[in-house]
Amino acid sequence: THFGFETVAENDKARRVRGVFDAVAKRYDVMNDFMSGGVHRLWKTAMIDWLNPGPGSHLLDVAGGTGDIAFRFLDKAGAGAHVTVADINAEMIMVGRDRALDQGRLALDWTVGDAEKLAFKDRTFDYVTIAFGIRNVTRIPEALKEMRRVLKPGGRFMCLEFSKVVVPGLDKIYEEYSFRVIPRIGSMVAGNADAYRYLVESIRKFPDQETFAGMLRTAGFEQVQVRNLTAGVAAIHSGWRL
Ligand code: SAM
Repeated sequence: THFGFETVAENDKARRVRGVFDAVAKRYDVMNDFMSGGVHRLWKTAMIDWLNPGPGSHLLDVAGGTGDIAFRFLDKAGAGAHVTVADINAEMIMVGRDRALDQGRLALDWTVGDAEKLAFKDRTFDYVTIAFGIRNVTRIPEALKEMRRVLKPGGRFMCLEFSKVVVPGLDKIYEEYSFRVIPRIGSMVAGNADAYRYLVESIRKFPDQETFAGMLRTAGFEQVQVRNLTAGVAAIHSGWRL
């Protein structure tokens, strides 16, 4: 890694997050399939189906990584749609850009940037999404305010993230799976159990559905709604800038 070049001011979480995604970028897509049994694909499709974007619309996908949300958005929105992907990690962006080129996709901009300090003007985008990214952000309230700031009035925000399992009994099985199985798969497939141990811990620490909905309201989003996926293993939060 490049730990030697980091400033002292950078906090532990940001450093750790960067290390994790540097380490896994090239195997990120295959790992997602392995660990979720492919279910992450359904969750991502569920978010874009709910968003139901129109032709010619412009999405900012924050923490967009290797492009899963961006590609689904373009397929759903149709003609004239455009996506700007912003991710703090250049390795992830490079993998995404290569994927887009391989698929002949042109309606995308790939940018390196921090969710807490978005490099876009106020009221730029019709939609802003973040999938499995907000959990990794150091100052979540800052990032939520930023994502609202760059939305046009009438624009919609959606966040897909791991959440709290709402079915008694299933929560125990899920804990067991995440703490025992995921780091093992991480070490077998990506050669990095620690990176996946970090991911599991970060899922556990993330606020539950109601708490996170409150954070959206505090950031100024209106008509906040939540949909659980797979009994709350993941959830989609929606909010509007009105
Ligand atoms: N959205 C993609 C998906 O659903 O497959 C990628 C999700 S991946 C689990 C998390 C992504 O968040 C990584 O690509 C990481 O680099 C990015 N990330 C972490 N902290 C960030 C920040 N502060 N600003 C922007 N991106 C960040």
